[in-house]
Amino acid sequence: MKNVLEAQVRLEVALEIMKRNKSTNSLDIEQVEKAIELLKKETTPAATEVEIKNCIICKENTGQLTLEDNALICETCAQVMSDQGHSLTLE
Ligand SMILES: [Zn+2]
Repeated sequence: MKNVLEAQVRLEVALEIMKRNKSTNSLDIEQVEKAIELLKKETTPAATEVEIKNCIICKENTGQLTLEDNALICETCAQVMSDQGHSLTLE
C-alpha cells in the first residue's frame, strides 16, 4: 500500500512537470492522468480494510476487546461488565 501511494505521488509530480512542458503530448498527459486515477482507487482503502467495529454494547466507542464470539466491546463497557460480575448477557 505504501509503494502504491508513493507511485501515485510520483506520477502526480510527473504530471505537473508534463503539464508545464508545452511540448508534452496531450495524449501522454491523459495516460498519466488515467494511471493516477487507477492508483487512487488502490490507495483509497476499501470498506473492509477501514472497517472499524464499534462496541456492541454502547455502539459508540471503537471495540477494543474481543469476546468469545468475536464481538467487540470497548474498555469502558468491559469495565462496566466486570463490575457487574462478568455477566456477558446483552439486553
Ligand atoms: Zn462500549
